Formats: sequence, structure tokens, C-alpha cells
Amino acid sequence: MKSEDELGDWRRTHYSTQITPELNSREVTLFGWVSSVRTQGGITFLIVNDKEGSFQVTVVKGKTSGEVVEKVAAVGEHASIGVKGTVKTISKAPNGAEVVPSEIKVLNLAKKPAFSVFGGALPSIDKRLDIRAVDLRRDKAQALFKIQRVLLRSLRAFFDEKGYSEVRSPKLISTATEGGASLFSVLYYNRPAFLTQSPQLYKEELTLPFEKVYEIGPAFRAEESRTQRHLSEITSIDIEEAYVDYNDVMDTLEGLIRRAASEVADSCARDFEKLKKEPVQVPKAFERLTYESVIEEVKRKREGISWGDDITGPDVEELGKAHGSFYFVVDWPTAAKPFYIKPSPGKPKVSESFDLMHGALELASGGTRVESKAVLVRRLKEQKLKPQAFEYHLSAFDYGMPPHAGFGLGLERLMMVLTGEENIREVTLFPRDKLRLTP
Ligand code: ATP
Ligand code: MG
Repeated sequence: MKSEDELGDWRRTHYSTQITPELNSREVTLFGWVSSVRTQGGITFLIVNDKEGSFQVTVVKGKTSGEVVEKVAAVGEHASIGVKGTVKTISKAPNGAEVVPSEIKVLNLAKKPAFSVFGGALPSIDKRLDIRAVDLRRDKAQALFKIQRVLLRSLRAFFDEKGYSEVRSPKLISTATEGGASLFSVLYYNRPAFLTQSPQLYKEELTLPFEKVYEIGPAFRAEESRTQRHLSEITSIDIEEAYVDYNDVMDTLEGLIRRAASEVADSCARDFEKLKKEPVQVPKAFERLTYESVIEEVKRKREGISWGDDITGPDVEELGKAHGSFYFVVDWPTAAKPFYIKPSPGKPKVSESFDLMHGALELASGGTRVESKAVLVRRLKEQKLKPQAFEYHLSAFDYGMPPHAGFGLGLERLMMVLTGEENIREVTLFPRDKLRLTP
């Protein structure tokens, strides 16, 4: 005999969170996965989760139909089931009501996972990632990705209201965006090609026809080191805008962060409770520190750093402690930034560039871009890149490229800050790093 049922013509009438006292005596059909089975003196309590929350099903031996009792006896955690029954007000159940079943369908039985997703000690993240789809049934994971959904919705609404067009640029490319070793190569038919590191060049070109564009899409970085804040595949939130400079896009970025943080806090109060975290505090105005002032600040702490050096490791940690929440570091040395970043007019060693930081974590990089083809060619050469390799990109600059500016913001980094997670893998559905290409 087959122990599992077919879905057949059963369809959901309600989600778990709708099972409330107002529905008392109503006939309902619900689906979900079993998160707990507890039997006590002939009564079995099933807790069933769905994407919204959980509901309780109470089965009483001698009262509930024999077939339902038999079916419930066979199910364990994770089994996929359907329940038809009547809502009954009961103060101890989730949302103050439960389902008294008249029929149950066991749609798929479940193996016992290597660790309990519904309470108890959690194994290392590596073990959890091996069965990530199951791991994502955890309350905290559900909360994190609910927050991510609200965040993405908020970002799109923000861009839409401000008149940016959503674009999609190719991820398979023939030349490196910025050169460098962090590219993955792939075979494109029988030609060498790469996975894109960033939509940079395409979004710049798209300011020519569309003026204001944004893209939320994948970017690939062959990062050599495995850290808590680096992945090999990320989601990049990019904008590029014509007729503005880096100060304007910093304002835009500030507005975007402020709105996203407040929408997430308002819509996800229960999720923050589940995470036992407070929504992030966003300052009234983000500090804008010049690179030069940061170098002076580091110099006061230690010797051996001078103008032109990168700010890394313990120096960034110190900076993060001193400036705390969201702040910008602006006006980086031109040599430290990619070729498309604009040198300051009249002060070419300094560029119109910025990084957005939260504590010691970099969230975004941006700047005013070079709009002059001659300057772009010079900058490419200075950075030991071959202008011929950028022929197609450069040709767009022959046709009245407008002055423009933009930024790239890592979605996963922003999620880390919004949720207080320290490992970027927790806020990524299926993370990729040097050692992980599965699941
Ligand atoms: P980092 O110095 O932290 O490695 P980056 O300066 O190399 O970052 P950018 O090229 O400026 O990164 O990319 C823009 C944004 O994309 C970063 O500010 C960050 O939010 C995100 N980002 C870049 N690389 C990664 C990565 N490997 N993993 C996660 N996020 C990343
Ligand atoms: Mg950067």
C-alpha cells in the first residue's frame, strides 16, 4: 500500500497566520511541513509550518477519525501534509486557534535530517549549507529572508519613484571590467570569456540612452581568501546617473539606506524578534570623512602609513570603532581607484570617489566617472590596461557621453548590517566561495 497521498483537488483556503478565533467553526484547508509532533495521554499535537508561520492540529484518539489518527502516527518532522478541518478557538495555540482535522493527506514523508532545524543545538554553518533548503526552514533563516524580500521591494520602489530604469546587463563578457585577477574564465563556445565582476561599463553606457539606470544582479569575484564578508558570487545593487556627481549619488545612497532600514524595521518587527536583534540605527546625516583626514587619523595611532596607502586590516577596525555607524570615506587617491573614476578637476591626484562604510565593513563604492574619452584612454594606460581591449566601451564615448556618477552596493553586505549577521553566508541562499560550489 502506498503510504503517501496525491494532492488531487485539494487547494489551500488559508495560511497558518489566518487561523485566528474570528474563524471559529469555519471549514479550512491548509498545507505545510510538520515542525513538531507531541503525544500526551492519547492526544497528539502537530505543529505545522507554512511560509507565513505555524498552526496547531490536535488529534484525539477515540474522537478524531481512525484514518486521521493512523496517518498522524506515521508523520515526523518535515513531512509535507495537507489538513482539512474546522477551526476551534483555543488560547494556547499559535494565534489563539487550532485546526480540528476531519481529513489529512500525507503528501510526502521525510527522512530525519542530520540536525534538528526546529530547536536544539545547531551544527556549523558548513554542515547546514550541505542541506541548505532544509536549513532554510529554520525560524531565523525564514526571518532573514523575509527581511531580504522587504529590502528588495523597498529598493525597487525607491528607484522607481526616483525615475531610474531597471536594466539587465550581460554577465558573460569578453573583457574584464577592471582587469585584475579576480575574474572567472569560462568557455564561450570555443572562445575564452569571463563572468562579469560588475555591470560598471554597461551601466555607464546606458546613461547615454536612459540617463538614470539601476540593476540588481549577480557579479562574480574569484576571491582567493575565505572571509566572513566575501563570496565568489554576489548580488550587486548598482546605479548610474547622468548630469550628477559623486556628492549627488552619495545623497541618493544615503536616502536609499535610510528608507530601506525604516521599511524593514516597520514591516519586519516579528522577524527581528525571532532574530533577537534590534533594527539598525541610521544616523541623521552620514559623516563624510576625506581619505586624507583618515590617513591623519591613522597616523596619530601608528607610524608607517602615508598618503597613497590603502587603509586595511586593523586600521579599518579602528576607523569603524571611531566612526561607528554609516559613514563615507571620500576623495581617494586616483591611483587607488579604477580607471573609470574621475580625477578631481584641478587636483588630479585625488579622485571624486567614495566608499560607504558601516563600522569596519565596506558596503558600497562609487564616484563621478570619467566622461572624456581621451582621459579614459590615459587612465587605462596608467593602470596598465590595454585600450584596445575596451574598444567597444570607448566607442560609446565618441557620441556625447553625459557626465555621470554612480555606485555599486553589495546586497549581502547590506543585509549583514540590517540584520546584524556576522557571516555573509547566513544571508545568502546558496553561498559560493573558494571551497563551495554546491548545493
Ligand atoms: P572589499 O574591499 O570589501 O573586498 P571591493 O572594494 O573589492 O570590496 P567593489 O569592487 O568596490 O568591492 O564592489 C562594490 C561592493 O560590492 C562592495 O562595496 C561590497 O559591498 C560588494 N562586494 C564586492 N566584492 C564582494 C565579495 N567578494 N563578497 C561580498 N560582497 C562584495
Ligand atoms: Mg570597493
